[in-house]
Amino acid sequence: MPAEPRAQIPPADPAAPYDIVFLDRDGTINVRVEDGYVTRPEELVLLPGALGAIVALTRAGCRVVVVTNQRGVSRGLMSLADVDAVHDRLRARVAEAGGRIDAVLVCPHAAGTCECRKPAPGLFLRALSAAPWAEATRCAVVGDMPTDVAPGRELGMRTRLVGRDAPDLAGAVRALLDGLCESV
Ligand SMILES: [Mg+2]
Ligand SMILES: [Zn+2]
Repeated sequence: MPAEPRAQIPPADPAAPYDIVFLDRDGTINVRVEDGYVTRPEELVLLPGALGAIVALTRAGCRVVVVTNQRGVSRGLMSLADVDAVHDRLRARVAEAGGRIDAVLVCPHAAGTCECRKPAPGLFLRALSAAPWAEATRCAVVGDMPTDVAPGRELGMRTRLVGRDAPDLAGAVRALLDGLCESV
């Protein structure tokens, strides 16, 4: 399935505070498109501070994995190639800033038809299977919807809900890296 990481995720820095930090995409890293989808790279508008937050995670030695529901694929509004092109742009923007996205996992399916559409845990489990060195209890997840963080919490990860626990991704990452975050 094209949404799988193409390779194993290499181990995090042994000194990193988290093995993997999972990030939701729309509404967390980039501006959510109202009643629609980011179908082309030009439509990807990053939220203030998002790039810096990802760079901070990279510098801390964490692996960064984006987990995103993109039901627009199943609805025929975009193709997996379109989604890949958006993610190529996202990775390039992060790389230019000095950070790294280590994997992007996408659920392209309709609601109720798969094991990977969040809040199902499939994307998280797939990433963990590509990172056998990682422990879920040494991972964290940041998202802007309760359905983003619920699967991580059930796996024992620390969670930060943007809009509730922190104003934005930058604030959430700051709290995670300062060790101020309790599991919620
Ligand atoms: Mg979101
Ligand atoms: Zn799915």
